[in-house]
This record gives sequence, C-alpha cells and structure tokens, in this order.
Amino acid sequence: MNQYIGVDLGGTNLRAAIVNTDTGQFDHLTSIPTLAREGHDSVMARMATLIETVIADSGRKKSEVGGVGIGVPGALDMENGLTLFLPNLPGTWPNVPLRDTIAERVQLPTFLINDARAMTLGEYTFGAGHGVDSIACFGIGTGIGGGLVINRRLLLNLGGTAAELGHTSIDMNGPVCGCGNRGCLEVYASGPAITSMGIKAVVQGLTTRIGEMVNYDLNRITPKVIYEAARAGDAIAKDIYERAGTYIGVAAANIITAVGPNKVVIGGGVSQAGDLLLDPIRRTVAERVNVTSMESVQIVHAELGPNAGLIGTAVWAKTCV
Ligand SMILES: [Zn+2]
Repeated sequence: MNQYIGVDLGGTNLRAAIVNTDTGQFDHLTSIPTLAREGHDSVMARMATLIETVIADSGRKKSEVGGVGIGVPGALDMENGLTLFLPNLPGTWPNVPLRDTIAERVQLPTFLINDARAMTLGEYTFGAGHGVDSIACFGIGTGIGGGLVINRRLLLNLGGTAAELGHTSIDMNGPVCGCGNRGCLEVYASGPAITSMGIKAVVQGLTTRIGEMVNYDLNRITPKVIYEAARAGDAIAKDIYERAGTYIGVAAANIITAVGPNKVVIGGGVSQAGDLLLDPIRRTVAERVNVTSMESVQIVHAELGPNAGLIGTAVWAKTCV
C-alpha cells in the first residue's frame, strides 16, 4: 500500500490530498476554510467529509487507501490520539479525541503528528533533507516550528513534544513568549516579529520605503512587503532580515553544537525570502560553532514548499500502520 491521505489542520484552512508515499507526489489537493470559531466538533465533521470527498474525487476505493495522517499545529497526546493545546485555534482544543473521531467517521486507520514534525519528516523523506542521516528543521511562519531527524529517525521524544526549536531561548532575559518561557527564538524571528520590526521602523520615521509601499497603512506591512523593499535596495528592510537571520543563526548554532546534523533546513512562509534570510544564518553559524567541524553541515532552503507537512503526515501514517 502506498496511497495515504495527508491532512493539514491549519488555523485558516483545512487541506487534504492523496499522497503516494513511495514518491512524495500527491493529487486531489483540496482546501476548505477551517472555520475554527464553530468549535472542534464542527471542524472534525468537516475534516471527515473533506477526506471522503478527496477519496471519492480521486476515483479510488477506500480499500486502496492505507490510512490518514493529520498534521496538527500544537501539542498532542500521540499515544491516545488527543489534541492538548492548539494555540492558534479558538478554544485551544483541550483533550479533543481527534484521532478516534476521524478514524470512526472515515473508517481508516488515522494518526496525528505535530505539523512541524510532519514538515521535518516530509523534507527528510522527499525534500532538502533526503539522503543524509540527521537534519534539524526550522519552520518560520506565524510561529517557529521545529523538528529533528537523528540517525534517520524522526525524534518524537517526550510524547512528540520535543524538538520545539522555536522555543529555545536565545536571550535568557528576553521578553515572555506565548509558551511562558523568556527570550524564545519565536519572539525575535517569526513572521509577526519581522512585521513588527517593519512597523517600528516606519513609526520611528526611519528612512525606508516600507511605509510608502503600503500607503502608510501599517496593518498591511507583512514579511513579504519588507522582503520586496529589501530586494529593491532598502537598507532598513535588509537590516530587518539580517537581524531575524542572525537570531535564527544563534539558535541553529546551538542545535548544531548539540546534535551535529548534516543539514539545517529552513522552511515556512518567511523562508521564501531565500538568501536574504539564509546568508545571515550561515554567517552567524560560522561565527558561533567552534567546537565541532562545520565541514559536513549545510544550511539549506526547504524544497517542498507549503506542502511539506501534508506529505510528511502521509509518510507518518504509513510508518504507523
Ligand atoms: Zn516560547
């Protein structure tokens, strides 16, 4: 069996596709609004319908599908198939039996995995991490997710809650993070952190075209706007990415020193800034990793784009079946 359903439970959209777990190719990718405010029962009902629709639209029989993997943006009880805390969804889903509810509705073996660990598994199996023994993955978006593959195994220690690379401190006295810790990487280099650096620059009246690009409507400033300003030569915008990359580089240096991965994979929406973000990461890592050889460590861009997680959830389901 090599056909599995990958599902991505996002704050905005629910997405599902049929993934060939031998090749990483997928088809019948379908997206519907999550409508998370309607509550978890309603979201789970819609997810089950989405899965059945994807199978029906593909012309496959249910018996040709090996199972379902669901990528979840938060903390899980993987053993019991429960969501514990999903910070970006209203109600936060405490102890919701997502796995068994979906398995019962669609009559297929169903498995949960954190979305960043799913992205890591997708990139390791079919993307930027393919072919090496160990990788560290950063997913830079609304938050900063993480994952580790060590000696060809996805690290799922502490019930799959380990490898939250975005919640490692880079400043012990830094501001309090949403997770309760101080000075987490996520506070300094996530999409919202980059946006607020842009807003601050405009409000302070620094010489930057960022304000002009959004007609001084600060709500329209995004990492993408700042990226475009930087590409057009704006020094302040370049400096914002330089700072974000330096922060990520500090966290990456710590992980490299601790784990020694062959590759550090930088993914997530913000990583679309490419070398603007990766160059300062590489420079910072080169400056800070001194106790181990950097000869066999590469800092690379993720390759599977926004579907890495979807592919990874299907791979995970196949691993579990
Ligand atoms: Zn944190």
